[in-house]
Amino acid sequence: MRSDPGPDGRPDYSLETEVQFVKGVGPRNANLLHKLGLRTVRDLLYWLPRRYEDRRHLPPIADLRVNEFATVRGRVIDIESRPTRNRMTLLRAHLSDGTGTVALVWFNQPWQAQRLRQAGEIVAYGMVKEGNYGYEISSPEWESAEEDDEVEAFAQLVPVYPLAEGVPQYLVRRAIANAVRDYASRAPETLPKALRDDFDLPNLAWCLKEIHRPLDEARRLAARRRLVFEEFLYLQLALAMKRAESQAEIGIAFPISQVGTRPAPSTGLFEVPLNKGESLWDEVGRMLPFDLTGAQRRVVTEVWRDMESPHPMNRLVQGDVGSGKTAVAACAMLAAVRCGYQSAMMAPTEILAEQHAANLRRLFEPLGLPVALLVGKQGAAQKRRQRMATASGEARIAVGTHALIQEGVEFASLGLVIVDEQHRFGVLQRAALREKGLGNPDMLVMTATPIPRTLTMTLYGDLDLSVIDELPPGRKPIKTHWKLPHERPQVYRGVRKLIEEGRQAYFVCPMVGESEKLNAQAAEELYARLDCEVYPDLRVGLLHGQMKPAAKEETMDAFRRHDLDILVATTVIEVGVDVPNANVMVIEDANRFGLAQLHQLRGRVGRGEYQSYCVLIGEGTNEEARTRLQTLVETNDGFVIAERDLQLRGPGEIAGTKQSGNLDFKVADLRTDGRLLEESRQAALAIVRKDPRLERPEHAAMLPLVAERRGLLANVPIS
Ligand code: ADP
Ligand code: MG
Repeated sequence: MRSDPGPDGRPDYSLETEVQFVKGVGPRNANLLHKLGLRTVRDLLYWLPRRYEDRRHLPPIADLRVNEFATVRGRVIDIESRPTRNRMTLLRAHLSDGTGTVALVWFNQPWQAQRLRQAGEIVAYGMVKEGNYGYEISSPEWESAEEDDEVEAFAQLVPVYPLAEGVPQYLVRRAIANAVRDYASRAPETLPKALRDDFDLPNLAWCLKEIHRPLDEARRLAARRRLVFEEFLYLQLALAMKRAESQAEIGIAFPISQVGTRPAPSTGLFEVPLNKGESLWDEVGRMLPFDLTGAQRRVVTEVWRDMESPHPMNRLVQGDVGSGKTAVAACAMLAAVRCGYQSAMMAPTEILAEQHAANLRRLFEPLGLPVALLVGKQGAAQKRRQRMATASGEARIAVGTHALIQEGVEFASLGLVIVDEQHRFGVLQRAALREKGLGNPDMLVMTATPIPRTLTMTLYGDLDLSVIDELPPGRKPIKTHWKLPHERPQVYRGVRKLIEEGRQAYFVCPMVGESEKLNAQAAEELYARLDCEVYPDLRVGLLHGQMKPAAKEETMDAFRRHDLDILVATTVIEVGVDVPNANVMVIEDANRFGLAQLHQLRGRVGRGEYQSYCVLIGEGTNEEARTRLQTLVETNDGFVIAERDLQLRGPGEIAGTKQSGNLDFKVADLRTDGRLLEESRQAALAIVRKDPRLERPEHAAMLPLVAERRGLLANVPIS
């Protein structure tokens, strides 16, 4: 990295110049900027304001209103510091601008007093509240007004930057202002002219100036729009290139349309099963106990088309809880088997793997196709038997947890890999399962938790997407109610009535903390209360993460057989559990769960012909909790819920996607920039179609930035 002035003493205007060489910074201030991760001029230019203050139109203190954020400017007229009853230090300063005064208040920050005394005239920002002695602003952001006058003179909107402890606002503002003045116009334009014209994107130098010191709001928005578009574009180009590359690879061409008309080509490892002259669709009809929905049919067609093509399939199947992804997976597996290959399906938990195995055995064993199950808890002898079955090819289908990707598991001719509940696995685990296949096996990933479209495009933009947007027929929408804790008796009576009608019920208690032991204890307490006090005459069972695998299995089986009326469980039942006769779920302390998780849990009911109910018990402890519970009451649509979840929590927090480097944006915000993301994706696809490796001269400047994004993609850790 070049960092110092050029050899002839003239400054080197590279954006990689170290911050200490920016005018007005120097080595000491550079150390402070380093605390913010700002090392180069480029870092400064892209350190964007958190908000802006229009300091020419600051409200007089006399005009302040309660419960509004305000910026005020004035002199500190007195400062007092005193201990409070609960051993804190209260610091109170009065600010006056001639029209009135407002109190600024800090708890336990005595050092602020000294700074305030030196400051004289200050600008402060915060929420105005009604205090005991007039208006006050608690823990305001503030800075000396005088330190900043030079830049302020010609600025309409003053940028306010994110800071770290001990790094003053004026320093960051000055360093960035100087970096913008001396370097922005030299920032090399990276986007091709044609693209900028097509999408109406201003040039980079202009944008960097306007984003820091906008002349007005319209210019700020235009500048931001380009920076966001650009940031999205590099990621989308990286994903589109990855997709184009894997589409160009050679994979297995499953001869699906010939199945039944002639024997499939032997893979040489085991006899290819014949299916008596039926077409694959005929056999699907015989295998499944129901007709596929239109959406399922469409997705199966898309999957088979991918399988038939000579390139490896990389497809994501999204469908709401209960939309019937397992049946789609079974159709894909059947196709693989009828073409002479094995298929494997990986699920995130043992309960789910076992359930898939049970369901798939019901479908495949009548066709003479054995299904192997591989999970961690199996004894050595059992494991060996299952491994032999997959290695010899005797088991055409294998289901398991990550035990499937462990060493020692081999396949005779693995051609199709399915990953269920994808968000729980990292890319490396996906890759590990693929490694077990022949050459480049086809890959199908399924997500149960609907995720917002913006996240799908950023996290899975390298995969082709199929959406099952229809529920099986006859499903009655689940009725969801939100009840307060004191209404429990009424809820219990309602549940009893359903059980008397022959149905079954789930009671879910939340994870109370990190400790599995405590969680198990909470579940046991709820179980004891329901079993002994509320429903002594009914059959109540318990399921939690601390139980021995055999005990878990026994309980699950008993519930499936209807030997239990009620199952008390922790969130271990969150994924996949399928008991159609259970038509009511009571979720205790529902306010402790996230939206996506509640939706996922609720998906355990509403799976049969009966009207189903979900009762959320909890206080609306805060605005966000109330919004969450209310959202569940209002809608059953997982995609609507996912969008709301994104708005409430932000992209980084959505279940299971936390660790993805794809979500790190400097400028863009996935909550509000969905339209731009869509546009940039279209642009990226068009570019890669014409120039798959970005070799044209007009794309050269983008290549290193795209490569950097690809590096981040490769580094996604195992989740
Ligand atoms: P998910 O998409 O949540 O994994 P499942 O595959 O577990 O959903 O299916 C949910 C339930 O719906 C299962 O009981 C399954 O047998 C049933 N099902 C799936 N497809 C259909 C269909 N086309 N018609 C009727 N029932 C179906
Ligand atoms: Mg499923």
